Amino acid sequence: MWRCKKCGEAFEENTAVCWSCGTARRDAPSFEVKRKNVRTYVYRWKINGVEYKGSREFGDEAGLRGHIKKIGGELLEIIEVKRYP
Ligand SMILES: [Zn+2]
Repeated sequence: MWRCKKCGEAFEENTAVCWSCGTARRDAPSFEVKRKNVRTYVYRWKINGVEYKGSREFGDEAGLRGHIKKIGGELLEIIEVKRYP
C-alpha cells in the first residue's frame, strides 16, 4: 500500500496515480494498516459508465461510500467484507 502525499488517500501498489487528486505516486513510502477495526471491503463500483471491482480497507461501510462518492463514482454492490481475526 502507499498513501498520496497530497490528499492522504490509500492505494494498492499497482496504482501509479492518485484517483482523488491526480498526484503521481513517485516515492511515497509504503505503509501497513495496523488498526484492528479496519476491514477489507470487496465491492463493485461504476465510474463514467464503466464497472470495476475494487478491494480496499475501510473502518466501516460509510468510509467506503464516502471514498467512492469523493472520486465521483457509484457503489453498486458490496461483495464481501473481510474482518481481521
Ligand atoms: Zn491524492
